[in-house]
Amino acid sequence: MGIDLGTTNSLIAIWQDGKAQLIANALGEVLTPSVVSVDDDGSILVGKAARARLTTHPDRTAAAFKRFMGSDKHFQLGDQRFTPEELSALVLGALKQDAEAHVGCSVSEAVISVPAYFSDEQRKRTVFAAELAGLKVQRLINEPTAAAMAYGLHEQKFERTLVFDLGGGTFDVTVLEYALPLIEVHASTGDNYLGGEDFTDALLAACLREWGLTLETLSPQVLASLHDAIEQFKCQAGEGSRVLHWNGDGQAREWQIDDSTLQSIWAPLLARVRTPIEQALRDARLSPRELDSLVLVGGATRMPQVQQLVAKLFGKLPYRHLDPDTIVALGAASQAACKARDAAIDELILTDVCPYTLGVASQRGEDAPGAFSPIIERNTIIPTSKVQRFYSAHPEQKSVRIAVYQGERPWVRDNILVDSFDIPLQPTGQIQSLDVRFSYDINGLLEVDVTFIETGLKHSHSIDRSPTGLDPEARQASHERLSGLKIHPRDTLPNRTLLARLERAWMQALGDERELIGNWLDTFNGVLAGQQSSEINRQRQALSQALDELRY
Ligand code: AMP
Repeated sequence: MGIDLGTTNSLIAIWQDGKAQLIANALGEVLTPSVVSVDDDGSILVGKAARARLTTHPDRTAAAFKRFMGSDKHFQLGDQRFTPEELSALVLGALKQDAEAHVGCSVSEAVISVPAYFSDEQRKRTVFAAELAGLKVQRLINEPTAAAMAYGLHEQKFERTLVFDLGGGTFDVTVLEYALPLIEVHASTGDNYLGGEDFTDALLAACLREWGLTLETLSPQVLASLHDAIEQFKCQAGEGSRVLHWNGDGQAREWQIDDSTLQSIWAPLLARVRTPIEQALRDARLSPRELDSLVLVGGATRMPQVQQLVAKLFGKLPYRHLDPDTIVALGAASQAACKARDAAIDELILTDVCPYTLGVASQRGEDAPGAFSPIIERNTIIPTSKVQRFYSAHPEQKSVRIAVYQGERPWVRDNILVDSFDIPLQPTGQIQSLDVRFSYDINGLLEVDVTFIETGLKHSHSIDRSPTGLDPEARQASHERLSGLKIHPRDTLPNRTLLARLERAWMQALGDERELIGNWLDTFNGVLAGQQSSEINRQRQALSQALDELRY
C-alpha cells in the first residue's frame, strides 16, 4: 500500500486491478485528519473525532506534528507525553487498520511519501514511526515525485513538468520529465517550514490585532476556537466568502476582509514561494517557458492567491483536473506496485534526485576551519556514490573528525549537522590522504566510507542517528509507551466522531442554534444508550448530514 502521511490529512491507497485506489477509513472518508487526541477515558482517538476535539479539548489533542519531526519537541496530551514520531505512528496505525479492514488480511509493508526536502533525520524518524506502527517501509518516496508518477501514469504523455506542492506544513518544487516508461526527476527544492498552516497563523495574528486581542489573554480553548474559525474562513475564502465570524469568547464579532487586505497579510509568505522555484529551474537548466505543464499538489494550492502567483510566475495555467489532496497517495501506491512488480506497471522506470548538498567540514587554508566541502551536490540523480580526497592537517595528527553536513552555505555553521564521528589515525610523521565516499540510496539514506590511502585502512559508518537523533533506549521507550496505549476501537469510531463533532458545534454555536445542537446531542446519547444498531446508524447519518449543512 502507499501512504501519504500529511501534515494536515493522511491517506492510503492500494494497487488493485491494475490501478491505484484510495481506501476509506471507518467513517467512509478517504482523508483521515493527522490529529491525535487522548479521550477522557485515556484511550487514543485518531482522525476526525480527534480533530473536533482540537477545539473542545486542545490540552489533550495534537495536530500538525509532522512539522516537528526530527526535533526534540514533545507534545503533552493530558497526562501523557508524545514525540512527533509516536504521534505519526498512531496515525499510521489507524491507516493500517483501515487497510486491513478493506483487504481482509494483515498488511505489514508500505511505501510512505515524505516531503522532498525532508532531511536525513526527518526521513529516519518517519521510518521509525512506521516501525512503531508495525509497518516495514518498502520505500520512502518524495511527495512531488509520487504526485508526478500518478499524474504521468494518468496522462501517458511526454513532457517537462513542474510539480508545485504546497501542503499544510511544507513546500516542495520538483522539475521532471516524462518519456514513458521513464520518469526522470531533474531537480527538487523546497522549504520545510512553509505551508498552509503558516497562512492560517498569519491570518490569526492579523485578526488578533484587528480585534485588539492578545494571545496571552486567551485560554487554550478560546484560542483553539478562533484558530478553527480562521481555518474555515481561509478554506471558504476561495469561494468568495469575505466575512470572518467568531463568537468563541462569548462576544459576537465579525471582520470584513477584502482581497487587498488578504493579499497584504499573506505577501511575505507568497514571496517565499519564489526562491525554491527559481532554484529548481536553475538546477534543471530550464526556463519557465520550456516547461510544458504545471501540476499543483497539496491542499494549500486551492488558495486563489497561490494560483494567481503560479499563473503569473509561469505565464500558464496549472493543471487542476487531478485532486491535489489524493494524488500523492495514488502515486505512492503506484510505487508500491512497481516494487511488487505488478504486470500493469513494471515497465515504469523512475529516477529521483538528492534534493540538498551533502558534504563534510574541512579546513580551507591555514586559518579557515569550518568550511563546507560538498561531496554529493544537490539534485544529483540517486542512488549515487561520490568520493572526495582530503588530507590530514598535521604530520602528528592522532585522529580525524568526519562531520557530515547538509545545506547550501559555504560555512558549516550555517548548514545542518547530520552526524559526526572520529577515526583514530596512526601518526606516520607525514601528512596522510583519505578518500571520503558518500553513498546515498533511493530512500534518501546516507552511508559514509573512509579509506586511508597510505595505510589502506577502511572505515564504514552508516548514519543511523544524528546528534539530535534517537538512541536505542529512546527507541525502546517509544515501543513500550505505544504498546501500553489503549486505542479507541475502530468499529465505534463513527459514533465517537459524531459525539465529538456535536460537542464542538455546541461550543461554537450561540442562541437557538446552540439549543438545537444541544437537543441533537441529547438525542444521540439517548439512542446510543438504547443499543439498537439500526437506529444508531440512522440517527448518526441524519445528524452528520445536519452538521455538514450547518458547516460544523
Ligand atoms: P495537505 O497537507 O495537502 O492536506 O494540505 C493541507 C493544507 O491545505 C492546510 O493548511 C489547509 O488549510 C489547506 N487547505 C485545504 N483546503 C483548502 C482550501 N479550500 N483553501 C485554502 N486552503 C486549503
